[in-house]
Amino acid sequence: MKLSHKLFASYLLVIAVSLTVLSVATSFIAPQNFWQTMHNRGGGGPNRGGMMERMELLDEQLDSSVRASVNNALLLAGGAAVITAILASWFVSQRIVRPIRAVVDVSQRIASGHYDERLNARTGDELGELMESFDRMASALDESETTRRQLLADVTHELKTPLASIKGYMEGLQDNILPAGPETFQLVHREAARLQRLVEDLQELSRVEAGQVTILAKPLDAALVVQSVVERMQPQFVEKEIALQTEVPPGLPRVRADHDRMEQILTNLLGNALQYTARGGAVKVCVKPSDHMLDFAVRDTGIGLAPEDRERVFQRFYRVDKSRSRASGGSGIGLTITRYLVEAQGGKIWAESAGLGQGSTFHFTLPAA
Ligand code: ADP
Repeated sequence: MKLSHKLFASYLLVIAVSLTVLSVATSFIAPQNFWQTMHNRGGGGPNRGGMMERMELLDEQLDSSVRASVNNALLLAGGAAVITAILASWFVSQRIVRPIRAVVDVSQRIASGHYDERLNARTGDELGELMESFDRMASALDESETTRRQLLADVTHELKTPLASIKGYMEGLQDNILPAGPETFQLVHREAARLQRLVEDLQELSRVEAGQVTILAKPLDAALVVQSVVERMQPQFVEKEIALQTEVPPGLPRVRADHDRMEQILTNLLGNALQYTARGGAVKVCVKPSDHMLDFAVRDTGIGLAPEDRERVFQRFYRVDKSRSRASGGSGIGLTITRYLVEAQGGKIWAESAGLGQGSTFHFTLPAA
């Protein structure tokens, strides 16, 4: 049964009940009251013969005329009520049915892949709220679909390059253009290693994006964590002749963080600093308290960042210098994962740089314990 018919039926029910009650009331109660009043008005005076009979006849005529006029009034009122019910149910059902129809149509269009469809509600009632929240859901779907498509395109693109290189080396070997020696095998191995790193990064990215990374936050000595990462990475810095220093003031409050995740964040940022700083440069890790948080900064004297790239470097697969970064094995996912890890622990991460060639500083904060 359609909504408009249901509405009309409910109105009819109300009319039928009201008319029944009205007609019962007018046929039993109202006449009694009426005659009671008439007799009372007549007073208790002495009855005189023929007058009585004429009065009774008059009573009957009056009674039937009262009943007739009441019935006519009821009929008229009933007719008017039914017409009003038809109009009201049509109007109300239009106000309710039209938005619902729109929701049904748009949801079907979204389901068939038209993610940009919206309802754009104009009413401020509950239906308007429903439509607004439907639009919000559609926007979220649209966004996640765009992200999915973008991710698929990025991953395909990232896989293509090393695969094409491996294929090229193999063809070179088959056609005896490349020597079957350690150098060629080294090249193939390097590309395979890049593929492996990419797959591992993607696995980690999908885990952090799905919120599947468990964070076991507990009070930690920030100085000790920084020291252990710096000591572990020192040999790579020594090899590239880059000075690696720390600046940690005494008496720092403890940081509330997951030990392994904090090490991972510092390792990623120091790895980047090492990669994007030329031989002979310097990298410094500084820690300082700042408004219930601890501020960590990894400062380098490397290639620096243009203002427009400071925010973009945190987007997945974003690399400032695509060829240089790819040649060094970078997939452009490291900072995306790092940002998730920082935010999952209640902190923030951002990049600062005076410009290209001016070095850069990656800051991140974590809550003080
Ligand atoms: P990648 O694996 O390519 O290094 P990241 O997500 O770690 O990926 O970094 C994204 C991009 O940000 C890098 O390709 C590089 O262009 C830029 N970047 C990261 N760290 C630095 C830094 N310390 N100095 C200059 N540029 C950097």
